Amino acid sequence: MPELPEVETVARDLQRWIAGAQITGVEVRWDRTIRHPLPPERFAEELRGSVIQRVGRRAKSVLIQLADGRVMTVALRMTGALLVADPGTPDDRYARVVFRLADGRELRYRDVRKFGRIGLFEGGSLRAGRVAGRRGLAEARRRRAKVREAAAPYRVGDVFARHGPEPLSPSFSARRLSDRLAGRSARLKTLLLDQSFIAGIGNIYADEALWLARLSPLRAADTLSQAEVGRLHRSIRKVLRQGITNRGASFSDYVGADGEPGENAERLAVYGRTGAPCLRCGRPIQRLVIGQRSTHFCPYCQPDSSSGEAAAAGSRGQRSSDR
Ligand SMILES: [Zn+2]
Repeated sequence: MPELPEVETVARDLQRWIAGAQITGVEVRWDRTIRHPLPPERFAEELRGSVIQRVGRRAKSVLIQLADGRVMTVALRMTGALLVADPGTPDDRYARVVFRLADGRELRYRDVRKFGRIGLFEGGSLRAGRVAGRRGLAEARRRRAKVREAAAPYRVGDVFARHGPEPLSPSFSARRLSDRLAGRSARLKTLLLDQSFIAGIGNIYADEALWLARLSPLRAADTLSQAEVGRLHRSIRKVLRQGITNRGASFSDYVGADGEPGENAERLAVYGRTGAPCLRCGRPIQRLVIGQRSTHFCPYCQPDSSSGEAAAAGSRGQRSSDR
């Protein structure tokens, strides 16, 4: 599943290739891909003639900003991809939505398993963090209810109101991470995957960040020292930046907007390396299941010290040797 570095790669490719392009027609081939507005015919109609101004990213979604201020959000989920096809490129049976551009090219939304969703929303602030957390959730719910009552336009900010801060944003400081960890008893791995805690991180980069920070995935979040929080903060940003530099990690379907897989998969330290030697200590990487997600780590470099057990991971989780 594409995480922050993969989605960022797609967004940067598209910014280079389709910023300034005009959408002359939209063909929706799988209705359920369209999230808003409905029916899909209305989505197509409202997009016709629009000019793409800028392509960016928020959380794990590509944001296609239109010149009139509206924003199209594309959540790639499991197998979604956004590909630019030159004129004459053979059709793709997995293209679920096709955007025809004035210059003859097509922007194709390809999705084998059809979990991805595309919406078109009014513009608005995408700032998060202030409304994230428990109070933020209640506020987001109230706002959504108000939007429904007033039949007011659904703004793009509402789509992301439940998402936590962007880890690569300049405002995401170690201090801010520390504040967010305080009072949270959840395990680090679970919390890093929680999109309302921090946006854009999934299974791959959570495991990589915890290995780099030498923190057990099983540690309770509120037991970290300031030094450990600092390490975690630096590690999160470093593994995400490395992922972007290498154009993302391809394990199955993920490709950049150029249709090519990323190169980050072979540069990962723990994810998918069960049984292989730890790059730091040489001992075998282990896998265990936390909250139904497979977790890869080095029990020696990442001891679960908060529980007082040196290498407690295996005794607390379900150990398995396969990936
Ligand atoms: Zn190790």
